[in-house]
Amino acid sequence: MKLAKRVTVLSPSPTLAITAKANELKRQGVDVVGLGAGEPDFNTPEHIIAAAEQAMREGKTKYTAARGIPELIQAIRDKFERDNGLSYSAKQIIVTNGGKHALYNLFMALLNPGDEVIIPIPYWVSYPEMVKVADGVPVFIEGAETNGFKVTADQVKAAITPRTRAIVINSPSNPTGSIYTRKELEAIADVCLSHGVLMVSDEIYEKLIYDGHSHVSVATFSKEAYENTVIINGMSKPYSMTGWRMGYAAGNEQLIQAMVDLSSHSTSNPTSFAQYGALAALAGTQEPLEKMKQEFVKRRDRVVELLNEIDGISCLKPEGAFYVFPNVSRAMQKMGYTDVDKWCEALLEQEKVAVVPGSGFGVKDNIRISYAASMEQLEKGIGRIKRFVEGR
Ligand SMILES: *Cc1c(COP(=O)(O)O)cnc(C)c1O
Repeated sequence: MKLAKRVTVLSPSPTLAITAKANELKRQGVDVVGLGAGEPDFNTPEHIIAAAEQAMREGKTKYTAARGIPELIQAIRDKFERDNGLSYSAKQIIVTNGGKHALYNLFMALLNPGDEVIIPIPYWVSYPEMVKVADGVPVFIEGAETNGFKVTADQVKAAITPRTRAIVINSPSNPTGSIYTRKELEAIADVCLSHGVLMVSDEIYEKLIYDGHSHVSVATFSKEAYENTVIINGMSKPYSMTGWRMGYAAGNEQLIQAMVDLSSHSTSNPTSFAQYGALAALAGTQEPLEKMKQEFVKRRDRVVELLNEIDGISCLKPEGAFYVFPNVSRAMQKMGYTDVDKWCEALLEQEKVAVVPGSGFGVKDNIRISYAASMEQLEKGIGRIKRFVEGR
């Protein structure tokens, strides 16, 4: 079958191969420890489920406005005011089928063929592929592990060309869990603003920050920064709603309108009753989120401690999200591996532990472990990694 060029440039998700293999083993009854998942292991809070159920019973099962229902748009505006001190009009906001869909529509609305988007490595797997589908060109800069995997303003500056349209900023980060400080972001924002580079700020892990650190959005720095930022956010991570497909974006009115127009001809609208669930998530009690956070921080501490006890693995303690991104280069070296994909495959085959190789995020020495798994599974999985690396 002859396919469109835009799909032939796509790389299949490297995380899928290992997930498929893990699932196959599970089906065969093998005791696999899955530490690859990019989603919270808690169910959606009860009051959110109840709100969606009630919406369905009340007949809110029809098409909605492409942009999203007005009540939810208002709740998103309130959220920005309350949490970020940012004022957006209703026309500056779109509700989407997940944060991923917001990013996709954004690149489709923004990029012309050959336009460049700066993407820091390690990156979330979908950024480069989405840019390519939109005929853009991903331009990579790599955050040093010694700098918490974060890029510097100087690196951003050096990557800017006349074709640069945007940069993706993801703090807290998937896969590293790192957060940028206000100072680091201000320096990056200064460079972007002086070169007319749009800042795409993916803030989906905003609520999952630990140890008293706090989230800061680049949009808050100045009027100019506000006008040159699109914020991407969503319900999946803070409210354990990955399957609901609820996300949103806020930014320049014209750009958001173009994204709405794209939605109107592709998805029509975000799922009607899921929007009522999202409304309950934003406007209702934040207690389940706080409980989840408390659990995550305990797990993170334990996971980092256990990983650093393994000879050949070193792991930074990240401040956010629910991932750690340990360096396994010494372990690979002493075991005779040069390829982190192969190392992860062998780990799955020999010890039945599924983790995601760093290659999916543009890095060759690290693996991503998600601590969105029970403490028992985490301890068991990391115990097996220790045995894999150190032998008995
Ligand atoms: C999970 C995730 C998203 C979006 O997920 P949705 O389920 O589509 O809302 C966006 N960015 C990052 C970095 C993520 O990890």
